[in-house]
Amino acid sequence: MKVFVLSNEGKPLMPTTPRRARVWLKAKRARVVLQGPFTIRLRFATRQHVQPAKVGIDTGSKVVGTAAIANGEVVFQAEVHLRDDIAEKMTRRRQHRRNRRARKTRYRAARYDNRRRPDGWLPPSLHSKAEATVKSVHFIASFLPVGRVTVEVGRFATQRMQNPDIAHLEYQQGDLQGYFLREYILEKWQRRCAYCGAREVPLEIEHIVPKSRGGSNRASNLTLACHACNQRKGQQTAAEFGFLDVQAKARVPLKDAAHVSSLKSRVVQNLQAVFGESQVSITYGYETRYKRIQGLGLPKSHANDTVAIACEIGEVVKPLEMVHQIRCLGRGHYQRFNGLHSEHKCWAPHKVRGFKLYELVKAKGGVGYIAGRREKGAFVIKDVPGGKKLLEFTPRKLVRVVRPTQGWMITRQPVLNSISKEGGASSHS
Ligand SMILES: [Zn+2]
Repeated sequence: MKVFVLSNEGKPLMPTTPRRARVWLKAKRARVVLQGPFTIRLRFATRQHVQPAKVGIDTGSKVVGTAAIANGEVVFQAEVHLRDDIAEKMTRRRQHRRNRRARKTRYRAARYDNRRRPDGWLPPSLHSKAEATVKSVHFIASFLPVGRVTVEVGRFATQRMQNPDIAHLEYQQGDLQGYFLREYILEKWQRRCAYCGAREVPLEIEHIVPKSRGGSNRASNLTLACHACNQRKGQQTAAEFGFLDVQAKARVPLKDAAHVSSLKSRVVQNLQAVFGESQVSITYGYETRYKRIQGLGLPKSHANDTVAIACEIGEVVKPLEMVHQIRCLGRGHYQRFNGLHSEHKCWAPHKVRGFKLYELVKAKGGVGYIAGRREKGAFVIKDVPGGKKLLEFTPRKLVRVVRPTQGWMITRQPVLNSISKEGGASSHS
């Protein structure tokens, strides 16, 4: 574990050991500026030599993974839980607005179709996700000197698919090319058995003309099969097995199918605008997988994937045991009344007994966050991971754990050993 350090001017320096940080803090040569991740700011001037950290971003629509590697060591890992309530909230707001207009300005002529969307417009739900992803890199840059940023944008390189030579690439298990081809074949055969159409079963890479009968390792001779079909086919070719069309389809290379989503390309654009075009590079799932399995020897998990994205081919690093969990929050709401006829006032002051929404507190032996404040001094406490209501009570004393930072609720959690099954195909023939 490392402690992050800012210079006396507030610029990020290289992280240090907890021991040294403790010495500085005790001698009043530094002060704490952030609890999670623990960051101190020096009170004395130092020479500022930094080696920029490498940052990896695993984009997603629900959870974004980030990892930072400095001095050949993973120093920070986080999972950012994006907001998914935006579309719903906007729908509700729209309904209220329409209702109100129908009520208050009954005879106003309809005005519609009078808005123009600027170039590069994204729906608000996606906009929020893109912004939060970029923000997570900004966040890392606030306590670490950030150099190269690598973003995973898709499963495999789309541009390379245009290349007609793909059909002639050789499949080789355990090298980068092999990982690319495997992803390519999975995509081409739509992740289902070419013979029985089974999905969601373990699929194997299958030689249409078996290797024992002179079949090649090229993409044009490969397809997917479930284990049962592969066994039944045995030493037959696909044509002999009764599937002439499979043989014909294999010869046609896949046309451009997967495209980088608007969300991901927006993230890359925005990062390039801030950190410089040469510093931001993109990567693909097959490369990540290759680095994770061949280089790092790690099982599949969100956190491990992110570490693999951040590191380079051939680099060996160890993931952290604690991952920061960051939850994106709304910044308050406008609701003033509730009830069937809006008969209940429902606003509590911004602060109730000094506490705001989303602060982490200790209450009755557990830790939760404040999900609601009542005027009379009661609080609704909810569970952090699931958002389940723990209790509603009027405390004698409430102990604050941490306040939200920059619209985020940040907690730390040990990595769960949830090893998900490796998706995709293994080679058997
Ligand atoms: Zn099958």
